[in-house]
Amino acid sequence: MAEKKKFLIVGGGAGGAILANSLVKDFDVTVINDSPYHYYWPQLLQIAFRNDYSNLYRSLSSLLVKGVNLVIDRVKKVDLQDRIVTLSNNKTMNYDYVAIAPGVTIEHKGIDGNEKLVEQYGDFHSTPQNASKVFDVVSNMKKGTFVIAVGDPYHRCPPSPYEGILLADEVFRLRGVRNDINMILAVPYPRAYPAETFNEVLEPILKERGINVMTFFTADKIDTENKKITSLEGEELSYDAAIVVPVHKGPKIEIKPDDAINQDGFINADKFTNQILKYDDAFAIGDASTSANAKTGVTAHLQAKVVSKRVLGLDARNTGRTNCPTELGFEKGTFVISDYNHPAAKVPANTINFIMKRLFADAYWDIIRHPEFWDPIFDVYFENTQPEVLWKLFR
Ligand SMILES: Cc1cc2nc3c(=O)[nH]c(=O)nc-3n(C[C@H](O)[C@H](O)[C@H](O)COP(=O)(O)OP(=O)(O)OC[C@H]3O[C@@H](n4cnc5c(N)ncnc54)[C@H](O)[C@@H]3O)c2cc1C
Repeated sequence: MAEKKKFLIVGGGAGGAILANSLVKDFDVTVINDSPYHYYWPQLLQIAFRNDYSNLYRSLSSLLVKGVNLVIDRVKKVDLQDRIVTLSNNKTMNYDYVAIAPGVTIEHKGIDGNEKLVEQYGDFHSTPQNASKVFDVVSNMKKGTFVIAVGDPYHRCPPSPYEGILLADEVFRLRGVRNDINMILAVPYPRAYPAETFNEVLEPILKERGINVMTFFTADKIDTENKKITSLEGEELSYDAAIVVPVHKGPKIEIKPDDAINQDGFINADKFTNQILKYDDAFAIGDASTSANAKTGVTAHLQAKVVSKRVLGLDARNTGRTNCPTELGFEKGTFVISDYNHPAAKVPANTINFIMKRLFADAYWDIIRHPEFWDPIFDVYFENTQPEVLWKLFR
């Protein structure tokens, strides 16, 4: 029997782990991850607003199926020309195929003053420690102005700032302090949610919950002494407690040739195939790639499936499908569902969608560990919830 080809995967997160488990039958797969743990990042919201750490991480080795090799080390360089991956100790590994999936780098210092702000009030896009600071704030604040402002529109999970402000509202209401807290969501867009159709679902909910929305406000500078945020557009916003969604950059990995990455360090990958430039043996998937039309686990998952089929010679292509379960507080939820050809459909807010979000979260580890079981279920789910179907259903 011919020897299996070597497939290296940089990063064992949402995209890398699923890809590894989907490939192991046909390839000699090695995942290189800089930590022994795989984090479920959506849990940062549950920590920040519910103090719930239950689903935060698992050991990566427990998620990879038998036969996948795991190396715990930091990749510092990928040379696409010579097919060489260099680890932190300068050890090198070669490959027949490589998939680069190391996620994003959070740069608080990308917004002047945000490092200091995060020390005080935390955030829910970086670490569990910072998310737990948010929980301290929302469970102790009694009065004043509470702000969530977006500093980078290309952040992970497009609906997360909205989930954050609505979950904060829930906490304040349950604590009986909501009437004394002015809540502001400041966004760079011309309306609360960038996609007009989905905005029709979200904006009335924000209004009903008494959340003030400031549009055309891209957080640019924070004066923590005087408690003021200034926007790129030149406006000022005062706060008593504030969270600013930080700048997201590409991975801290040297990737050669230089034109394989854009100015923010994201890897230039084709949006349909995830192939990097002209290298048909190299792919970038998930948050690290420029092809992530939404930085979500579902996108990373679907891209992994496309890559796993393409390397077997199939002409699989991304449709740009998003499927972001969005929690709205008080056991209500909705979904942001779109694709390259259809903006987000008007999926209504209801308890069923909240339950669906919870079910996705509970099934997360199993979805990664058993793609052979979940793939047919997802095929049916995605087929029946295509944006064009939902567009007709929810006008
Ligand atoms: C608050 C919040 C809520 C979210 N909610 C949702 C949601 O409801 N639904 C959804 O689908 N998505 C959601 N997401 C987004 C989702 O978590 C990410 O899009 C997803 O994890 C991206 O997967 P990835 O594989 O690209 O990166 P990651 O899952 O971040 O994995 C990257 C891996 O690479 C490793 N790594 C990094 N650098 C190196 C290196 N140099 N060498 C070796 N290994 C390295 C990391 O340790 C990590 O294990 C949310 C994110 C946040 C922050």
